[in-house]
Amino acid sequence: MDLTAVAAYRRATTRQDLALSPGERFLAGGTWLFSEPNRDITGLVDLSTMPWAPLEVSQDGLRIGATCTIAQLLELPAHLGWRAQPLFEDAANALLASFKIWNEATVVGNVCRAYAAAAMLAACATLDGVAEIWEPGGGTRHEPVASLPTGNGTTSLAHGEAVRAIDIPSRALEGRTALRKIALAELGRSGAVVTGRADADGSFTIVVTAATLKPTVLRYPIPPSPARVADDVRASDGFYTDALGSEDWRRHVAGVLAAEIVEELS
Ligand SMILES: Cc1cc2nc3c(=O)[nH]c(=O)nc-3n(C[C@H](O)[C@H](O)[C@H](O)COP(=O)(O)OP(=O)(O)OC[C@H]3O[C@@H](n4cnc5c(N)ncnc54)[C@H](O)[C@@H]3O)c2cc1C
Repeated sequence: MDLTAVAAYRRATTRQDLALSPGERFLAGGTWLFSEPNRDITGLVDLSTMPWAPLEVSQDGLRIGATCTIAQLLELPAHLGWRAQPLFEDAANALLASFKIWNEATVVGNVCRAYAAAAMLAACATLDGVAEIWEPGGGTRHEPVASLPTGNGTTSLAHGEAVRAIDIPSRALEGRTALRKIALAELGRSGAVVTGRADADGSFTIVVTAATLKPTVLRYPIPPSPARVADDVRASDGFYTDALGSEDWRRHVAGVLAAEIVEELS
């Protein structure tokens, strides 16, 4: 544990407990929080003790609660019949984090950390996930998961706003999906991840993550050609350079991966 400035720890069991003081942060699985010094954090408020179901299945779709670990999401029974379900496992495998981390890390924690290579975020964005956000004053707001990140590791969440759950509509869960990933090192963090969804009405959704600072979402009312999607992806904003890949490499490979996804889903 790298946190050295933490002087207080609280277990939250009610909404009132979620009121944060300036130095407090929400603790979910702790896999990121405990991995860096985070010297500005003086207190932790544990969400794992909130009385929230990890997963709720209804006719409307799937609700992923803030306490749901990646491992719990992957245990969702296959008999539910949602064709998009394999996307969750594909996304988990696209993380650098192994199955050991999946047992602790939450899906919502991955979304809130909002790294460009947040593959659970990519899956939820591809499936039109919407975050239910509890505001500190008692209000509730909703935001598409795809627009929650404002950059690589930053979000639109204000201090004290808690993501209660992510709702995935059944319409999206009935689509066919695919994921492609590339990294400079075989076991390295992703340099580019492209996910896609094809719906029964012929519409297509393509999402680029890891290669762009925040998710890039492209939508098509009818199946596009692979070449058209590759061109559209490469014309997008937000490609960047870091140790995991250069901007021009990311732009190029994201186009290649997007074209492959269209071929697979067409
Ligand atoms: C070995 C390893 C490999 C990793 N590989 C990857 C990778 O490939 N790609 C990637 O993107 N990330 C990676 N990560 C980081 C990853 O994003 C997190 O470890 C994990 O997904 C965070 O989930 P958690 O439940 O542990 O969150 P925590 O560490 O508990 O919290 C993460 C952040 O989200 C906030 N938060 C959590 N829940 C909520 C909520 N409900 N409402 C509001 N804020 C909340 C916390 O305050 C904190 O700021 C890796 C981490 C490790 C340790």
